[in-house]
Amino acid sequence: MIPYGRHQLTEEDINAVVDVLRHQHLTQGAQVPAFEAALAGYTGATHVCAVNSATSALHLVCLALGMGPGDVLWTSPLSFVASSNCALYCGAGVDFVDIDPATLSISLPLLEEKLAQAHARQQLPKALITVHFAGLPTDMQLLHTLCQRYGIALIEDASHAVGADCHSAKVGECRWSDAAIFSFHPVKMITTAEGGAVLTPHEWLDARVRKLRTHGIVKDAARVASGELPPWYYEQEALGFNYRLTDMQAALGLSQLTRLDSILAERRRLAARYRQLLADLPLTLAPVSAIEGTESSWHLYVIQLNDADRRLGLYQACQAAGIGVQIHYIPIYWQPYYQQLGFSQGYCPQVEEYYRRCLTLPLYVGLTDAEQDKVVAVIRAFFEHT
Ligand SMILES: *Cc1c(COP(=O)(O)O)cnc(C)c1O
Repeated sequence: MIPYGRHQLTEEDINAVVDVLRHQHLTQGAQVPAFEAALAGYTGATHVCAVNSATSALHLVCLALGMGPGDVLWTSPLSFVASSNCALYCGAGVDFVDIDPATLSISLPLLEEKLAQAHARQQLPKALITVHFAGLPTDMQLLHTLCQRYGIALIEDASHAVGADCHSAKVGECRWSDAAIFSFHPVKMITTAEGGAVLTPHEWLDARVRKLRTHGIVKDAARVASGELPPWYYEQEALGFNYRLTDMQAALGLSQLTRLDSILAERRRLAARYRQLLADLPLTLAPVSAIEGTESSWHLYVIQLNDADRRLGLYQACQAAGIGVQIHYIPIYWQPYYQQLGFSQGYCPQVEEYYRRCLTLPLYVGLTDAEQDKVVAVIRAFFEHT
């Protein structure tokens, strides 16, 4: 079976983990700060806090922004459910802004219109989470301008976009946002098995996220040093969690991060190959950025069938041929949990139209040209013979 995505592990990765097991602290040692520093170095981020998943990272960012009952988060309906669940964890509400079919990211004209209406009703959201779908960054300069106009926090769910470029800056530098979230799940760009990170330009946001990562507990070194507090003293200042990454995981992430540029290059090569090999078929291919200096990390290669009625047939033909195609994603608000909150089908027509036509093809480091040719041949045969 050729899967849609797969992690890559090298001997160096394995040795890095074994070294921690043999010689180092398993958790709360030196590897986590080293991984955070390396992520900051790679992206240009001012502050990086590693956590045990992107889901945890999203939760902590919402809490750090003070999200709670009476507040609303807006996000894209074309994402994994974690992008919106994070607001619900805090007792806040969620709303969705439909996608732009040309970018598969939040539609900026629709957002502008929805913000103007919400402003008139005095029901502005507290924050917007944009999702860099499939690794293609949203136009952050435009989003930043819109969010600034209304005083809304702007967060990037960059789970797909580790290593991507936006207006000639690395995603994660947060030049136009208040925070970015990374995921290190094995299907993503680099992995720590489970893991995530919060990147932010704000000292205050980083400090809150760090405190909440470890139970809301702080140890005040200065007050201990001055003798005001005894040496064993710690204080719980907020109701936090244990969302820490282990040192084995951080060591794996550090090792993987050294290969990120070559991973990006290979994904871009495979995506360009799909673009060329599929060009003449009745499909809409994955969007390529029209913005200078903006480039996808190619986490996913998503095609759309011109004829939505043939999508199930193509899905089945691929599965029968041993090709593990996938669907990214069922619109979030179609989930029964969200329907129960009052959302109904038809709410965001663009994402629903996309959902009827989409199919994710295999794309990962280690996919050979021969395997990719087989994927293309199966798709071609489907259109030629059925
Ligand atoms: C994978 C993913 C998440 C959640 O990541 P985890 O690390 O598995 O918690 C959140 N948002 C998006 C867009 C994702 O693809």
